[in-house]
Amino acid sequence: MSLRERASGLTDRVWSAVTGDRANRLIERLERVRDGDPWFDKRGLDAVRRRPVDDESIERRRGYQRYLGVVFAGLLAAAFWYPVLAGVGVVGCATAAVGVGAVRGRFYCNHLCPRGGLLDGYVRLFSRGRRTPDWFKHPLTRAAVGLVAFGLLGTGLYASWQRGGSLGVPFLTMLGVSTLVAVGLGVVYHQRAWCQVCPAGTLSHAVHRVAEALGRDPAPRVEVDADACVSCGRCGTVCRQEIRPGQYADGEVTDHGDVFSLGGPEGATREADGVVDHGDCLQCSACVEECPTGALSFDEE
Ligand code: SF4
Ligand code: SF4
Repeated sequence: MSLRERASGLTDRVWSAVTGDRANRLIERLERVRDGDPWFDKRGLDAVRRRPVDDESIERRRGYQRYLGVVFAGLLAAAFWYPVLAGVGVVGCATAAVGVGAVRGRFYCNHLCPRGGLLDGYVRLFSRGRRTPDWFKHPLTRAAVGLVAFGLLGTGLYASWQRGGSLGVPFLTMLGVSTLVAVGLGVVYHQRAWCQVCPAGTLSHAVHRVAEALGRDPAPRVEVDADACVSCGRCGTVCRQEIRPGQYADGEVTDHGDVFSLGGPEGATREADGVVDHGDCLQCSACVEECPTGALSFDEE
């Protein structure tokens, strides 16, 4: 055995002694995430032949979100010294979410939200990739989160104003606490678990439904070609909002419904006619890219 091989064997042994199984599993998981594996348990779905995926577009989006994540972390850090930045950030992002929401639904949440960038770009690496429990997706949970967030913010602003203190501090507190919760949920469930109850996302969704009722065109929606769909379920394994696009092909929508439509958290709530008319869709294209048979596409394209 050459000196180089011995040195390499020794390095491997030292590395394995230092890292142990746990660290190796973590590295393996990071590599799987880097390689684009879905973040939910696929339960044997690998057997389904995959369509070639446009890796360049996925990588482009991921790179872009990583920048957004850094911007968000920088803003949060700077706000500890200048709390007014937190106020500007929260008001600016909420205004943008609602403004974009009127025209494009929750497009903002996937493409522009800095905290979304942090969750998709970084928290995803440590996420266990599990679905959230049903109660978490319930409209009442969402309403409760919104009431608590806006209630505490309003109370904090009033108290600061009475004391003559900085109005940025209540914003910083809300931003810091909600980010901790979002990161915690992202690690325990999947990285975008928070986005299912985020008050800004809910507002964006609600505003879009109002705009639709007033005659505005719906935001781009995923369409399902029922003839091409083989009901493999892969699309549901990658959806950040836990939507199962394949189930819209035949009207058999059994997952949680759209919070602002007539039904409730159970069952089909709007006409399921091959269009994923779910107001929480982030228009991220993950399901379109994941579908092995090319059954999914955006109705706009
Ligand atoms: S739409 Fe595609 S990924 Fe989803 S169930 Fe049908 S074949 Fe599978
Ligand atoms: S585009 Fe597809 S994967 Fe992305 S949120 Fe919408 S339904 Fe889910």
